[in-house]
Amino acid sequence: MSSDQGTLFLKQYMTGKFLRVYEVDLKKDTLVVVHSIDDENLPDQDGSAFSALIQECVAAGIVHPDDAEEFADRLSVAGLRQWLSTENRPFDLQVRRKRNGVYEWVLIEAMRSENYTEDNQVIYVVLQEQNELLGAFKALSYIYISVHYLDLKNDTYMAVKTNQYIDALIPRAGSNLNEKGRHATMNLVEENHRAETLKFMELETLRGRMNGVDTLTHIFVGNINGWCRARFIAVDYDEQGMLHHVLFTVEGIDAEKRREQRLMHMAQTDLMTGIMNRGTGQRVIQELLEEGVKGLFCMFDVDKFKAVNDTYGHDVGDEVLIAIANSMEKVFRGGDVIMRLGGDEFAFFARGVQSRKVADNIIGRLLKAIEAIRIPVMGSYQIEISLGAVMVGQQSSFEAVYRQADECLYEAKGTEGSNCVFYNQPAK
Ligand code: GH3
Ligand code: MG
Repeated sequence: MSSDQGTLFLKQYMTGKFLRVYEVDLKKDTLVVVHSIDDENLPDQDGSAFSALIQECVAAGIVHPDDAEEFADRLSVAGLRQWLSTENRPFDLQVRRKRNGVYEWVLIEAMRSENYTEDNQVIYVVLQEQNELLGAFKALSYIYISVHYLDLKNDTYMAVKTNQYIDALIPRAGSNLNEKGRHATMNLVEENHRAETLKFMELETLRGRMNGVDTLTHIFVGNINGWCRARFIAVDYDEQGMLHHVLFTVEGIDAEKRREQRLMHMAQTDLMTGIMNRGTGQRVIQELLEEGVKGLFCMFDVDKFKAVNDTYGHDVGDEVLIAIANSMEKVFRGGDVIMRLGGDEFAFFARGVQSRKVADNIIGRLLKAIEAIRIPVMGSYQIEISLGAVMVGQQSSFEAVYRQADECLYEAKGTEGSNCVFYNQPAK
């Protein structure tokens, strides 16, 4: 059995009944009936002209009149040649076919024969019963970028589903399965993910890795399809209990991954202002502090914010909070951490800041940016804040630093207007 025929029969197993398989020679316009289980009297005889068969099916009303044009068009020699010229594109056509007086949907697929060349244009045309399983298989096809059926014992494979890129990259001959997989991985997987993926693809170690498990998965970024999930599925074992066949599938999960990233982002973000929320900011700063990163930690609270809400309304209050977050985004650098603690409280950690002069500078820039905020309905109202600041010069915990800053903030609140109190440092 050639591997294309192998693929056909594997698909048959998965999809239901093949009613007819024709071997068609496009150059000679002849057909051979390779397989037939249909009792219907289709006018198909070995050696007869393929184009005549297609025309007869239309003329005799075997194909539903509404489907006849597409049927005749795509299954004409010209139509099939056009399909063949589009590298490895699957050919499938669904038409209603009359059987025992009623029309039923059937699926017509075509594929190149294994020894197809420009001079030897032999293809298979397959007529299949359209059943529920087929729909399921089609649905699977949408999910899977590729499905390969591997025979570990004989070091061979069949492609159940593939695409032109993968096909082009699997060496046809002269290498074993492991090398084929390696070659495809080198070319289809993004550089950063290659080493891990090569390890996953290693067929020599696969039996060991699949000992006692049904499936192994690995996620990577592909050059063409973005995020993908590769999977080995154990199919059967030989008499010695050695893994014999496995399915190797690649599933596109880019949308899933993006959704996951979006959810992650949402969980980590203060949704109103778009900066980090308390939990995330705390975790990130905690990690930096544990690494011994030094810097300036500061928390601040808007002065008389309740009055803003009471005078201009809660929506305007929200606008103020968003404007403050935007100001912070402008003032701080990429490596700094900015967060909303909740309500009208914010905090930041400016990495590497160790001198009081630099700290004053940064806080001065922040105050200036916040005082420059203008919300139209608030006229010339100037937003003021009170800050508590801590220079972190040695490894600390977030809680300790937070407590110190909070004390300073409380103290700063005692003074009218924008004001900053530093922990353990003389007032200026
Ligand atoms: P102080 O000068 O002492 O800071 O007083 P304050 O009026 O700013 O009051 P405080 O900081 O104690 O309270 C903050 C207020 O912020 C309480 C709450 O009504 C308001 N607030 C909290 N979250 C939001 C929010 O998401 N949007 C708006 N518009 N207001 C909020
Ligand atoms: Mg306040």
